[in-house]
Amino acid sequence: MFEAISLASGSSGNSLFVRTKRTQILIDAGISSSEIVRKLKYLKVEPTKIDAILLTHEHSDHGSGIPGLAKRSGKLKVIANEATFAALKEKLDGTGIERNIIHIGKNFPIGDLTLRAFKIHHDAAYPVGITISYKRARITYLVDLGRISRENQEEINRSDLVVIDSNYDRLSLIRGPYPEKLKKRIVNHAHLSNEIVGNLILSHPAKEQTEFWLAHLSEENNSPKTASLTINFILKHGGAKGRASFKVLPRKRIGPWWRARIESQPMLLLPGISIPIDLSQYRDSLNPDQRALFDQNRQRAQEIHLLDIEPIYHSPDDDGLGWKMLGADRNGYVVAKDIDIVGVAGIQIGEKIWSCECGDFMWRCQKRGIPCKHIIRVIEWLSNIDANKDKQ
Ligand SMILES: [Zn+2]
Ligand SMILES: [Zn+2]
Repeated sequence: MFEAISLASGSSGNSLFVRTKRTQILIDAGISSSEIVRKLKYLKVEPTKIDAILLTHEHSDHGSGIPGLAKRSGKLKVIANEATFAALKEKLDGTGIERNIIHIGKNFPIGDLTLRAFKIHHDAAYPVGITISYKRARITYLVDLGRISRENQEEINRSDLVVIDSNYDRLSLIRGPYPEKLKKRIVNHAHLSNEIVGNLILSHPAKEQTEFWLAHLSEENNSPKTASLTINFILKHGGAKGRASFKVLPRKRIGPWWRARIESQPMLLLPGISIPIDLSQYRDSLNPDQRALFDQNRQRAQEIHLLDIEPIYHSPDDDGLGWKMLGADRNGYVVAKDIDIVGVAGIQIGEKIWSCECGDFMWRCQKRGIPCKHIIRVIEWLSNIDANKDKQ
């Protein structure tokens, strides 16, 4: 699993929570520590289990929660570059944080995640954007930047999720009440406009497969509606209407989850049963009745799309005990990942709990020696991912 969620986004504070099964980090912690703790607990994440905080630059809307979090945890690992630590010397001295220096362009492993910082243009000591990778999936976070360099663009083009500054609407800023000097600072050094982000999405070579989160919206010079209208306008007139997906991050509330479409191996899915990866060979080994059922199930499996499936978790520690079909009226089927979990009687599809369509629950299907459609569907799902990846 590889997931991200925004805890806050805007001039009053920014923080992005990213996790895999083993590792949990925050990118920036620019809201109060009590707010971060409250939100993590709401997400059923134990705040003391955060492995590290990566700080992109010293502005208070990115780092103000760190001293409080350090006090609460007693020991807090903070990752930043030397210039950022130097700029925050007074605020961080005496907090007992463990300082970890990240160097531009060099991979920084933390648990099973890999972080890489790259330079961005912003009026801070040494501001960075950050790419977070897990297996083949990547998140790029670049919030607070006045313009986009070619290097920034390359990072964006390689990512599955792009969290990007979309601070102001150009006309609202120009006509708005800010003093001229501040307007100039915003345009030249501080932030990106909806118009720039719209064009960036439009020119993205893989916009259909990439999710864009619009971050750090100005309360004065922008609104979620204005940002959405502008970007949709640009996409429409650029001939890309409906081909790119973006979301506006809420300022104070928790945002939506993003989940990587990964990549696990079929044998991990069902302990105790070995599922052949090569389905054609397996099909040949079945008797005619089984083969007919197999074909029928396989056909239906083709109709499931990755975006229709969302893992179900009992706790942050488990790896998903099944898949939830998104959309209330889809008649999709899913497989239980761990049949030994006590109390699992079915799988949630939309609002309802379903059991297996073949009339038995998973372990009985396995006993019969026929891979029911649930198993087949998941294999199909995984093999599709691999096929797509190979094409790229
Ligand atoms: Zn800043
Ligand atoms: Zn900021």
